[in-house]
Parts: sequence; structure tokens; C-alpha cells
Amino acid sequence: MDGEIMKQKYEPVIGLEVHVELNTKSKMFCSCKAEYFGKKPNTQTCPVCLGLPGALPVPNRTAIEWCIKIGMALNCDIPLESKFDRKNYFYPDLPKGYQISQYDQPFAMNGSIEIRNRQKAIRIRRVHMEEDTAKLVHEFGNQNAKIKDQKYTLIDFNRSGVPLVEIVTEPDFDNAQDVKEYLQKIQQIVRYLDVSEADMEKGMMRLEPNISLHVTRNTTHGKNNVSPVTSHLLPSYKVEVKNINSFKYVEKAINFEIDRQAKILDEGKTPVQETRGWDEKKQITVSQRSKEEAHDYRYFPEPDIPPFEWTDKKLLELRGQLPELPSKKLERFIKEYNLSSYDAEILTREIQTADYFEEAITVSKDRNVTPKQLANYIINRKPDLEKTLPVQLVQNIIAASKTATVDEKHLEKVVQDVIIENTKAVEDYKKGNEKVMMFLIGQVIRKLKEKVDVNIIKSEIERNLK
Ligand SMILES: [Zn+2]
Repeated sequence: MDGEIMKQKYEPVIGLEVHVELNTKSKMFCSCKAEYFGKKPNTQTCPVCLGLPGALPVPNRTAIEWCIKIGMALNCDIPLESKFDRKNYFYPDLPKGYQISQYDQPFAMNGSIEIRNRQKAIRIRRVHMEEDTAKLVHEFGNQNAKIKDQKYTLIDFNRSGVPLVEIVTEPDFDNAQDVKEYLQKIQQIVRYLDVSEADMEKGMMRLEPNISLHVTRNTTHGKNNVSPVTSHLLPSYKVEVKNINSFKYVEKAINFEIDRQAKILDEGKTPVQETRGWDEKKQITVSQRSKEEAHDYRYFPEPDIPPFEWTDKKLLELRGQLPELPSKKLERFIKEYNLSSYDAEILTREIQTADYFEEAITVSKDRNVTPKQLANYIINRKPDLEKTLPVQLVQNIIAASKTATVDEKHLEKVVQDVIIENTKAVEDYKKGNEKVMMFLIGQVIRKLKEKVDVNIIKSEIERNLK
């Protein structure tokens, strides 16, 4: 077409699979201890989790109930019927040759979770229960090793059979920042439910994003007439990324993959459908296996475990055991205690802090200490909540308020003025020059009419620089 400028634009399409290890006492289908971190390899095993012939699995009821609670907390439907299936594949980490998982009847499905301060909802396709695999350790034998000068792999079956919940989203993400926020929400929710520590560095929470780019062609007619042509079909390929084991690398790995795919599309090619691994040292993703080797899992119903049938009564009972969830608690803190959403967010980040705060409110009744004062003290002074009883904390606040009363509004105004007037110093501080802080504190003290604790000034400056 004459005089048309074709411009390619890409919209990332990202879906997520998150695995969460439950901290039940025993494993999913046997009575071995589920806690394996730091334990001597292959000391917590039995015929069931070693996959020996004839061993029969007995499902862990607690693990299943926790899986359903996760589903409920993620606003899922809980079907009244579900079952386990065998997922067949051959790999050394799987002694039975199959993994007990769930295929077409998971414990929970069709949920959602809100991010970006309720601006966006991520749909959750399913939440299902499965067993973890053994852990492979790849090594290279040195001169003194039994296997010299070659690669070998050790297998630790302690992790084999640990209860694992998989949470699968629809491909609703279009950027890495949202993925990170979603993960933090998932971690916060499972910690509120007290079903997992969900520590990414320890492998208790694992993440597998699948990423592809949707091509949008903006056809420009003449000068001003821009008509973007967007099709809502999903891209014809997708790339799965494994081995991202810390929050630090979530965004990096996804953004790397988006850039890599955009370059391929810019050349007029289509990225290969494959599984890639995040290489922490090189900060890149590397190809692991392509579509040709992709698995056909040949799922079929697990014959050794009868299907489950739930009653409405049972599900109601489980629902009744759910704690107040983070989003509800946040909302309530803002309303009930008249807190800013910033303060309420910090106080509800961990359930322990939230509980502590409310306990302190109870003991501060009739003592002229407001929830706002308590919130400020906890957020700005960061007292060690494990070593300070709420009643002590309240006493500290009363003692502190006798020596110096801080007009918070005034202090905030002065701090903001100082920040605006000293842009160069603020820049230096943000670049890492810690000494500048003393200068900024000095500037605030000069402007304040009243005497205020240096620590309070410091945290107020830090808060305003965020
Ligand atoms: Zn076992």
C-alpha cells in the first residue's frame, strides 16, 4: 500500500505457574517427614516416596485441605468432586515413572486476584495438588572423587513426595512488574494461611512464567490517521522459563526474554517454542529443550486413590477456618484505625505485625495513645517486635511523647521543603552517599522550631525519599 508506514509493536503475553511447597508434618502420600531442608540426603524416605513396586499411596488430608484453602483465598470455585491422576514421564527425579498430580478435576478452579491497587485482576485458571520430585545435584568429579574427571548426578529423595500446590494463571500479565507484585501477593496469602513459608531462595516457592509477544501493527495513513490493528488471538508460540529462584531475578529474567523475542520478531522470524532456563551468573536465559522433545504426559486416573467428594458442609467448615486475608485486613485498618493506605499496607504485609499492632491498640485503650501514633512508632522506629511486648511498646511511646512532642504535619512539611531545596544533596544520597543524610538532618533541625529526636527526623526523610 502506497505511503503507508508499517510499524511493529509488541505486547507481552505472560502466564504463570507457581509451585508452593506445603509445610505439613508428613509427605503427601506417606508418613515420612516433609521438612527436608538441610537434612542429610536420602534419610527421609520409605518405599512409597522411593517408588518401590507394590507401595501404596495414602493421601495427606491436611495437605488437601490446605490446597482447598489456598483455592478459597484466591477466590476459586471448589468443585464438589475431584481426583488424582498419574502424569507419566521418564526422568531420574521421578522413581515411579509418573507423578501423582491432578489433570481434569483439580481441587480449585476459576479464581482471581487483584493487583495494582485493584486496577487489574489476574484470573487464576486452577489450583491443584501434586507431589514434589526428588532433587538432582549435578557435580563434576575432581582428582580424589570416585568418579574422576567427568560429570555425574546425585539424587536426593528427601524431597520426593513433599506436598506441592500448583497455582496456574491465565495469560493475563503484560509486564514483569505485575508478575512480581502477583508473586508477592501469593507469598503473603500462603503465609497468612500458615500453610507454607514460601521462601523462594529455599525453593519453597517456584515460578515458571511462559512468555510470548503479540504483534500489533500500527498502520499509519498519511500524517494523522493512525489505525492500530489488533487481533486478540494468542501468539503461535510460547517460551517457558525455569530456574528463577529469587524475587530479585523475576523481573530481570522476564524482561530479558521480552527483549530477546522482540529482536527475533524484528528480523521477521518467530521465536522457537521451547523451555529455557535462567542463568543467574550470566543474567540471560538459555535454551533447555525445544518443542520436538516436549512431553506427552498420557494422564490417566490414579487407580490407587479413590476420587474425592466434598459436601457443602465440609467446604463451609474449611471456609470458616480462613483467617482475615491481607486485602480485607488492609481495608479494615484504613477504615477502623483511620490509617493512610501506605501505613496500613506496611502493617498488614506480615500477619505477625498486623496482630502485634492490634494487640498494642487493645492495651493502649484509656492511655491516650492513638492507633496513628502506634502505627508511626512501629513503622518509623522499627522496634524488635519479638523482644518488645505490646504493653512495653505503649509505655515507650508515652515516655517518648513526654520528652518531645512532634507536630507530625509540621515535620513532614519541613522535610519536604528541605528535599525540594537540596536537590543536589538528595541526588547524592540516592546514589549511595550515606553521609549526605547528616547534612539533610541538619537542615531540618535548623528549620524546626521544636526539638525532635534525630531518629524520627531521619526516618521521616527516608520515608519522603521513597
Ligand atoms: Zn516416604
